[in-house]
Amino acid sequence: MQSPTISYLTKVQFGVGALGDLREVMTQVGIARPLVVTDQPLVELGFVSRLGLDSPVVFADIQSNPTESSVLAGLEVYREHGCDGFLALGGGSPIDAAKAMAILATHDIKLEEAAYIRGGLERITSDMPPLIAIPTTAGTGTEVGRGSLVTMESGQKLAIISPHIIPNWSIVDPELTLNLPPLLTAATGMDALSHCIETAISRVYNPVAEAIALDGLKRGWDNLKIAFENPYDIAARTEMMMCAMQGALSFQKGLGLVHSISHPLGAIQRRALHHGTLNSVLMPHVLLFNESGCRLALDKIGDQLGISGGVAGIAKALTDYSDSMGLPLTLSEMGVENDDLIGIEALAVADHCSLTNPRDVTQEGVTEVLKSAF
Ligand SMILES: [Zn+2]
Repeated sequence: MQSPTISYLTKVQFGVGALGDLREVMTQVGIARPLVVTDQPLVELGFVSRLGLDSPVVFADIQSNPTESSVLAGLEVYREHGCDGFLALGGGSPIDAAKAMAILATHDIKLEEAAYIRGGLERITSDMPPLIAIPTTAGTGTEVGRGSLVTMESGQKLAIISPHIIPNWSIVDPELTLNLPPLLTAATGMDALSHCIETAISRVYNPVAEAIALDGLKRGWDNLKIAFENPYDIAARTEMMMCAMQGALSFQKGLGLVHSISHPLGAIQRRALHHGTLNSVLMPHVLLFNESGCRLALDKIGDQLGISGGVAGIAKALTDYSDSMGLPLTLSEMGVENDDLIGIEALAVADHCSLTNPRDVTQEGVTEVLKSAF
């Protein structure tokens, strides 16, 4: 496709108490025997019980940054129990894993063949089992997104992108985020802010997505700190859910270098680096790097947030914001060592998000950002 596709297709039940609509949504999308894909901590916190299903089939062996092997293990459970659809419950990892399971349930391909940079967009057809997403964090927005990030057997963390993996329906209920611990609230929230910022400055012309991104950015900027300090503030939690959803509704405009770098860093298994924390560390440095390619968009961001001083002002405000929530400010503070960075430049250049970054991404450019963020 030569011209940008503009699309807002999926259905969302949004708001406090939306989880109560689950039964009706299941009927509407035609799921009678779902596989609930989630993670162990959420099972222990009673989230599966809150779904109100009679003896559901549950697959909870999903790690943060889901892997191909957990996708294959979940698919086996799906088949063993004759399930007819997926309920993905959790943060980005269970939802992304369920999307990948759904592809393999009906497509006779290896998971890596579904990856965008391996030509997966052409291979994934509309022949998909139904999937309902129920997010429990306000961050990835993958409940309305057309992407799934999986660390493949090869060790590479690759994006699968297709309009056919957008959940058929999402239930976005801010009450499910009330127990999210403050640091996780901060890190996932910074991921949501990074989606709004990266899509707002991306090189793709899509004013519809841009408007949504700027609106989501304002909601997130005004409310993340409140949700961090007052976890039970349902109004702030609601605005963060909206910010996360808006960030992902804008994905079609394309992300950029923050994500190009955080994807390969997030794939370093021995470090288990949190995606949102990585993005919060990288964002100020990437914005400074990108300035020449997105001055107008940066002006709009400054206006929207009431920040003066151009890109330097915005970068400093972001750093101060992360600092005020106790997030690390450098890669080394996160535990990244020099050796971890070997090969990251090439992977970042090849990442699908580099294509839509406002400035051309070269290995030298990535090195510059890594050095300043280190
Ligand atoms: Zn992200």
